[in-house]
Amino acid sequence: MRGATAVDTLATADAMQPKSSDAARITRPDLGLAARRELDELARQSLLREPRTLGAAGPRAEIEGRECLILASNDYLGLSTHSAVVTAAADAAGRYGAGAGASRLVTGNLPIHEELEAEIAALKGTEAAIVFSSGYAANLGLIPALLARGDVAVCDKLNHASLIDACRLSGARLRVYGHGDTTRLESILRAEASAGRLVVVTDGVFSMDGDVAPLPDVLTIAQAYGAWVVVDDAHGTGTLGRTGVGTVEHFGLDAAAFINMGTLSKAFGSQGGFVTGSTELIALLRNRARSFVYSTGLAPASAAAALAAIRLAREQPEIRQRLWRNVRLLRQKITPAGLLPVSTDSQITSLVIGGVEQALAFADELLRAGVFAPAIRPPTVPRGTSRVRISVTAAHTREDVEEAAAAICEAAESIKS
Ligand code: PMP
Repeated sequence: MRGATAVDTLATADAMQPKSSDAARITRPDLGLAARRELDELARQSLLREPRTLGAAGPRAEIEGRECLILASNDYLGLSTHSAVVTAAADAAGRYGAGAGASRLVTGNLPIHEELEAEIAALKGTEAAIVFSSGYAANLGLIPALLARGDVAVCDKLNHASLIDACRLSGARLRVYGHGDTTRLESILRAEASAGRLVVVTDGVFSMDGDVAPLPDVLTIAQAYGAWVVVDDAHGTGTLGRTGVGTVEHFGLDAAAFINMGTLSKAFGSQGGFVTGSTELIALLRNRARSFVYSTGLAPASAAAALAAIRLAREQPEIRQRLWRNVRLLRQKITPAGLLPVSTDSQITSLVIGGVEQALAFADELLRAGVFAPAIRPPTVPRGTSRVRISVTAAHTREDVEEAAAAICEAAESIKS
């Protein structure tokens, strides 16, 4: 978008298309049939997904008529069902309505948006913040506002899909380095030194492996080549660092050195995404991030829930400590199963099983034991690394964690035999 004359409707583009009188005679393929063929092919590869129906939110819920332990949620601090968070959401809906009404550039801010953005900036230690309707929307707005054709986005191979989509959408050239391979990162930056803008883009915590990006090295290298660094800290926010600020705090780095993105839908138990940074960056995003400009503002209930959750997490560090106690207990108790987590850097415990069928069998076995943890398959993870992703939260009790660990050990035995 940068430098171009902004055209925000397709009216002009349409007028330039050749008009063909043949168009009416072209027979369109049957959409239902085309979709069915694609779905059948997914099913053949055991890659068809159909979400389960859960009877409630929280650490336990009914699935197919039976109460199960839920180890499938990113509600790491268990705040989505915390009474103060739920009450804040209900109060905000009563006061401001169920929806924000329009894009905030059209209908204006609600006080709750401004309060939330101030709280996020204070949490992250930056001058300003902007909230979007989801983390996905935040990335889709952020990257194309920074980069355009002629620029280069340098991505870790395991970056989240929303970052990859955002980089593609920007029109910048996409260069990829091996996961955590900072030597390769440096050689790419050296080769691209004459590009327009250079941005290194990385997850803080990688969502499917649970490991943490080598941010200190990434930053040093990026600075040496004049590149900015975007960190997607969807999974580090609220959980990592001495006070739960996230991956940047975990490494004791300066918040101002990064463009930090995060989500309100994981540790903060609500919905929405954000970007933090300088006053100028945030003002630019208010004007240039198309997923902010052209999308209805975050729902008041979601904003209020997120605000209440951030405050709770800051005021009550024992919630985060409970999460970590549960994570440590789970890992200790599943040691006999011989399934080593890909990483123990973060709260995510990812157990690689291997083939798609085996991972599905493992997850089915868990569900039979009343424990719901999802099998993660390609394309979310590389072929041959299908896994079960275990997420205990601060809302689980010690008994819940012990029950989960016992089920995991039994499932591991059953897929061996
Ligand atoms: N970034 C990462 C690393 C994520 O894991 C996710 C969600 N899975 C997102 C961004 C998108 O966030 P949201 O769910 O709020 O859209």
